[in-house]
Amino acid sequence: MNGSLLEIENLSVSYRGEDGSVFTAASEVSLSLNRGESLCIVGESGSGKSSVAMSVPRLLPSPPAFWPQGRILFDGKDILAMSPKELRSVRARRIGVVFQDPIGSLSPLHRIGDQLAETLFLHCDVSRSAARATALEWLHKVGIPEPEQRLKAYPHELSGGMQQRVMIAMALMLGPDLIIADEPTTALDVTVQSQILSLMRSLVGKDSALLLITHDLGVVAKMASKLAVMKDGRVIETADDVSAFFANPSHPHSRALVAEARKMEL
Ligand code: ADP
Ligand code: MG
Repeated sequence: MNGSLLEIENLSVSYRGEDGSVFTAASEVSLSLNRGESLCIVGESGSGKSSVAMSVPRLLPSPPAFWPQGRILFDGKDILAMSPKELRSVRARRIGVVFQDPIGSLSPLHRIGDQLAETLFLHCDVSRSAARATALEWLHKVGIPEPEQRLKAYPHELSGGMQQRVMIAMALMLGPDLIIADEPTTALDVTVQSQILSLMRSLVGKDSALLLITHDLGVVAKMASKLAVMKDGRVIETADDVSAFFANPSHPHSRALVAEARKMEL
């Protein structure tokens, strides 16, 4: 089959409040992503980016989240219609997720080497000692200095940038087809941000695809092969040519975002 790796079709994402009220965070979103591409979803805070992105690995707690319409086709299969078992296997092996806050997704109680090795041991058919060797290799790959020592560290003993490198190792080491990163550098200072972005760029190969969420057009310029702008839950503009977008954004809101980003750079 020649379809896209990820095809989001006419997707709406809503949340039901305790009083039964319904808030729709994303409406009629359609996006597609192929291997070798990196799609950035950009937009202001609250525009619905995370609601869309986190629907893909079904990491939105449901309830309160639900999907009144649309499909999320991953390799042609609708994630919203998968059984819990299918979903678990896709999520573990084929989709890697990098969050803004690495400390929230690493266990504070276990040494990072053990966490990485355990994930490999659980999901790949390898011995514990092979898993440890691969964990070490990945710490090396993501640029952690003295990786042998760091295997024994607990997450809180590492800086935010180093924690994010561990998260990236965790997300990438099982060789996912799709990597979803939701504001992966927002919590980091500027120099570390750009190191983490280059790292992600170098590790996401042409056989995999990156869905990157950001409110920062500087990140889009560095990372995207295509982009979608969201506002108030809707995709208001998409572009397959990122430089053409920056030269001439077509929606007034995109123009305002680009102008704002230029001002910040000066
Ligand atoms: P973004 O990632 O662009 O900042 P989000 O997808 O996180 O946007 O949020 C979009 C809208 O959905 C926001 O108005 C937010 O308050 C609302 N929202 C997010 N999560 C929930 C939830 N669990 N319950 C109710 N509303 C939510
Ligand atoms: Mg968000």
